[in-house]
Amino acid sequence: MKKRLLRALPSVDELLRSDRLKEAATLHSLPLVTGSVRMALEESRSGILAGSVTEVSFDRLVEDSLEVLRRTLASKVRKVINASGTVLHTNIGRAVLSEEAQEAVVFASGNINLEFDLDTGGRGERDNLVEDLLKRLTGAEAATVVNNNAAAVLLTLNSLAEGKEVVISRGELIEIGGSFRLPEIIKKSGCVLKEVGTTNRTHPGDYASAVTGSTALFFKAHTSNYTVVGFTAEVGLPELVGIGKRHALPVVEDLGSGSLVDLSRYGLPKEPLVSESIEAGADIVTFSGDKLLGGPQSGIIAGKKEFVDSIRKNPLKRALRPGKLTLASLEATLRLYLDSERLAGRLPTLRHLSRPLGDIEEAAKKAASLLSEFLGGSFSFSVEDSDSAVGGGSMPGHKLSTKVVSVTHGTVGPERIMRLFLDSTPAILGRINKDRFLLDMRTVEDPADVVPSVRF
Ligand SMILES: *Cc1c(COP(=O)(O)O)cnc(C)c1O
Repeated sequence: MKKRLLRALPSVDELLRSDRLKEAATLHSLPLVTGSVRMALEESRSGILAGSVTEVSFDRLVEDSLEVLRRTLASKVRKVINASGTVLHTNIGRAVLSEEAQEAVVFASGNINLEFDLDTGGRGERDNLVEDLLKRLTGAEAATVVNNNAAAVLLTLNSLAEGKEVVISRGELIEIGGSFRLPEIIKKSGCVLKEVGTTNRTHPGDYASAVTGSTALFFKAHTSNYTVVGFTAEVGLPELVGIGKRHALPVVEDLGSGSLVDLSRYGLPKEPLVSESIEAGADIVTFSGDKLLGGPQSGIIAGKKEFVDSIRKNPLKRALRPGKLTLASLEATLRLYLDSERLAGRLPTLRHLSRPLGDIEEAAKKAASLLSEFLGGSFSFSVEDSDSAVGGGSMPGHKLSTKVVSVTHGTVGPERIMRLFLDSTPAILGRINKDRFLLDMRTVEDPADVVPSVRF
């Protein structure tokens, strides 16, 4: 039976002589179409051998070949509308870039003065594009940029402490979602981890008594995605800087997100400011470009010039440096911070975090009415109260009151509804809560964006 089916499979050439594939070969190149036909035949062959294909149809194989072709040509990168309720959602690319930053990406697609000094006509430094802005916004003496904050931590530790001991409190040995585990990063940086204190309490004396001849620095990590409550004690940065001074050891702080503006001005909980850490005497501060800062994926290293200089000289810097699209959009994002009055209007991350509830409710009502107009039938839509999260490991446990559109259906469940919205173009990402599919409007500026592209 299987042998008979295998023998019945047409050849590549026979399939290519069919009208539809001949037409496809005039629209696309012949090798591309031939490749798709081969793949479709291969899939059928495996299906026959596995017993899942029990008949051979020429027309069906033509269709399959065209489907393979469509799949090959379709972009893997797809636009997603964020109605998830998480403002900085790591899995969909965290911060939404401002218009200014998007324009910068477009013009930087061509040639720019990336490492070319237009004044002297000679070689420039790519850090020059953003360093003055970073210095101004953080108060640091110097700054450099790498691909992400994990790289910033890795490069800083490898530059300043390779082969030596890094002293850190047990309460700060964090794991950030995915694969960032501080103890592992310290090891991969070539450093020796020296834990001090306990999970809930670490005292100044714990740091001081850990110092030996091979200690390179004190490390402090912002516990971004959890809080330790109850019987706790932590050595604050200013105090740690004092201990560092007494032992002539630098203090490095990983702020995770950090912020360049005081978010309490926008009614949000205060996140540590990079400028405060610099002011308190941290020798190096590292933070992400795409968390609360609201820019492209990048990691920023700011601090004392002597340390930033030795970080820059590390050959690993070359392996971790960002590209021109990142630097151009980071510069455009940082520039927005110069005008703090207009920042919340122009920086989507801040605009979404501080969006007035009335505004979100209005968008939710509009979306509910557009959805019921478009989908109607057995679906129902209602505007309800819920909470959004900041995400990106920032402001752990802090909830933002929001309004959601709850989508229900007479017969199909929330998982199925979620699938339908994900299959739309662009994909619409909501969330399921207590067995209901919700579209959180906090991060959706145009209510029409949550209306799917096709009727179900
Ligand atoms: C998010 C975070 C990181 C990792 O930053 P990426 O930019 O995602 O690489 C490192 N440390 C802390 C404390 C963080 O919050």
